[in-house]
Amino acid sequence: TPPSAARPTAVTSTSSITSIISTVERLRGTFDRGVTKPTAWRIRQLKALRALLIDNTSDIEQALLTDLKKNPAEAQLTEIGFVIAEIDHTLKHLRQWLRPKRVSTPLLIAPSSAHVVKEPLGVVLVIAPWNYPVQLLLVPIIGALAAGNAVAAKPSELAPATSAVFARLFARYFDSNAVALIEGGVDETTQLLAERFDHIFYTGNGRVGRIVMQAAVANLTPVTLELGGKSPVYVDDTVDLRVVAHRIAWGKFMNAGQTCVAPDYLLTTPAIAAKLGALLVDTIAEFYGSDPVSSDSYGRIVNDRQFERLVGLLEGETVVTGGDSDARTRYIAPTVLSGVSRDAPIMSEEIFGPILPIVTVDSLSDAIDFINAGDKPLALYVFSESKTTRRRFTTQTSSGALAFGVPAAHLLVQSLPFGGVGQSGMGSYHGERSLAVFSHEKAVLSKILKPDTFNLVYPPFTQKKDAF
Ligand code: NAD
Repeated sequence: TPPSAARPTAVTSTSSITSIISTVERLRGTFDRGVTKPTAWRIRQLKALRALLIDNTSDIEQALLTDLKKNPAEAQLTEIGFVIAEIDHTLKHLRQWLRPKRVSTPLLIAPSSAHVVKEPLGVVLVIAPWNYPVQLLLVPIIGALAAGNAVAAKPSELAPATSAVFARLFARYFDSNAVALIEGGVDETTQLLAERFDHIFYTGNGRVGRIVMQAAVANLTPVTLELGGKSPVYVDDTVDLRVVAHRIAWGKFMNAGQTCVAPDYLLTTPAIAAKLGALLVDTIAEFYGSDPVSSDSYGRIVNDRQFERLVGLLEGETVVTGGDSDARTRYIAPTVLSGVSRDAPIMSEEIFGPILPIVTVDSLSDAIDFINAGDKPLALYVFSESKTTRRRFTTQTSSGALAFGVPAAHLLVQSLPFGGVGQSGMGSYHGERSLAVFSHEKAVLSKILKPDTFNLVYPPFTQKKDAF
């Protein structure tokens, strides 16, 4: 199914503004009444979300085909099944995660006991992007509900079919007084951001990330910003390049390159660049056939603006494979570029599409210096069997994640924090960490009144007390 050409643009009417205000008020009222606090309620909502996904798998898959021509098998791995795995992990551990954690107390206040108790924040806002419109909308919501919050969720208007499916299903499955989905674009998001929330969880680009953070200032609302950037790949000569080509092509061309943790560009020596370039050509043919335009496993660019931006980035570059495109269906072939200059336009912004530039370096130090000269990446991928090389990347670079031997798969490890650093974002989530994002860790101290062992600290401060 080719993605639909026409994209509806959201129009904000006075009535939608009024309804946003009243929706947030309704959520606030629900939270204030304590509805969302019982663990049993939280578990019910998580199970309802699970049922939503299972009962409506084919509608969701169809929406992803319409929005991004995302293959259903890929949708299972990276969207629907991914979210179900996160729900199951959360359901399995939630009661244990919520248990107050006892901590030791100093002698000065003995006898006493101290605990860290997680409490929900209140009403939280989740703003999601279009590229993984299921996962990036729902995984934050899992954390927000597990922590006992009411949730306002804003899917991306740029994945309209997926947005519409959830708009229809949320009210049917969730407690609609506690979980609201607000469809819309910039106007609706702007209106939402004018409301007071207790946490804002935003996934998308850094420009809007700044708008979100600015809006949060007014109410001192904490934010999590899951942003993007250029995620480099470094390859040396200690590894099996055929496997490396498979791993890189998988991570890069999945979702037609529109993945925040996709390998953005490749750094390697000229000798490896030539070999790896040839192996990538073979791998792409193996994955998507000799004519990827007719492959069911290959996606499309989300809209005309992104399509034109990506085609523009190809200008003047040397194509190893791919490079062709079709504006009508927003197809861009899986493309590898060689001999790309470090100051080429394609190296100055996150690519976010199926184009892989190969940039050559003289040495490991050259690669590390180049990476460190740019913004801190969301992810950094290293293919090397050398312990020294691995150690140098671990200690001499900074990135949201560092993965050896495989791109993007760190997201599948629920116990690893997922998030950026510096320009690639702030805060992290997944698994227990999602619960922490949407909870306040309350310090609870308890000390008995009798006998009053605390009298040693009361004034007046005699010499004896000073000594204590
Ligand atoms: P997008 O255009 O869908 O925007 C994301 C959200 O911001 C949408 O809900 C949209 O309505 C809202 N928005 C857009 N303009 C706004 C404005 N002016 N004011 C208020 N809200 C506004 O998605 P995108 O930003 O194009 O997503 C792609 C980017 O997101 C890439 O940079 C990618 O790397 C990053 N990303 C990061 C992660 C992550 O987990 N770290 C995941 C996916 C994507």
